[in-house]
Amino acid sequence: MPAKMFEHPYRGRWAAIATMHGKERAIAPVLCRWFGMTITTAPGVDTDALGTFTGEIARSGTMLDAARAKALLAISRTGAPIGIGGEGAFGPDPGLPFIASGRELLLLRDSATGHEIVVFRRTATNYDHVTIAPGDPIDAFLARVGFPDHAVVVRAEPRDGRAPAKGLRDRKQVEAALRDVFTSAGRAAIETDMRAHLNPTRMTSIARLARALAVRTARCCPSCGTPGFGLVDVERGLPCGECGAPTRRIRAEIHGCSACATRALRRERAAALYADPTWCQICNP
Ligand SMILES: [Zn+2]
Ligand SMILES: [Zn+2]
Repeated sequence: MPAKMFEHPYRGRWAAIATMHGKERAIAPVLCRWFGMTITTAPGVDTDALGTFTGEIARSGTMLDAARAKALLAISRTGAPIGIGGEGAFGPDPGLPFIASGRELLLLRDSATGHEIVVFRRTATNYDHVTIAPGDPIDAFLARVGFPDHAVVVRAEPRDGRAPAKGLRDRKQVEAALRDVFTSAGRAAIETDMRAHLNPTRMTSIARLARALAVRTARCCPSCGTPGFGLVDVERGLPCGECGAPTRRIRAEIHGCSACATRALRRERAAALYADPTWCQICNP
């Protein structure tokens, strides 16, 4: 870590996290190590009211909206000068529909200025579900999703009015929940429980993202000193190796400050670097 971090504006500050699912275990150690921050978990915050993975409460708005709402709750419940909120989303990968993908977002908000630092990543996940009838085998599914280290949820398929049985980490609990569903429904669904404290894969992803948040937060704007200077856009137009015309390939990263208008080109590709002609609209239309 560079020495200038000792003068970092967030050094030794107090931050609050709104989470019901133990995310502070993945986030607090990183921010404590990097910035000497004191991290509090905001009490009495019902983050489930902002949306659940099991569908009883749909999230309104984007992942960013949800993470911001949590950070604001953390600030208002504790009076901390910095609030942190996180949000995950899971489903089929848009590019590879048969592969599940996860997305995680972390947001740090400075309550005095309203300044926010946001990091986002696509992550590996055990997200999965299976629909079964009475007597169908479930062992292969449970093994695939990492049960019992990773909890599962059991519900009727299609959903009926009853609350799903969540956080199941014991084979007997799963069987009892299935028997219960089959008393009134012909089919049941077993799903991965995506809440962080019941999903070690997710907790690991959040810890990685917390490191990314620390890296981003550590970089301060060269003009105004606000933390969080980093990648905001890319500049395309790497020249074609055959004809020299600009292509869609990235030529440089644009780093910027979200508090002022400062922008800087970083990681500019060397003048001798060209794009493969397969990327060229002229050579390979
Ligand atoms: Zn070309
Ligand atoms: Zn700035």
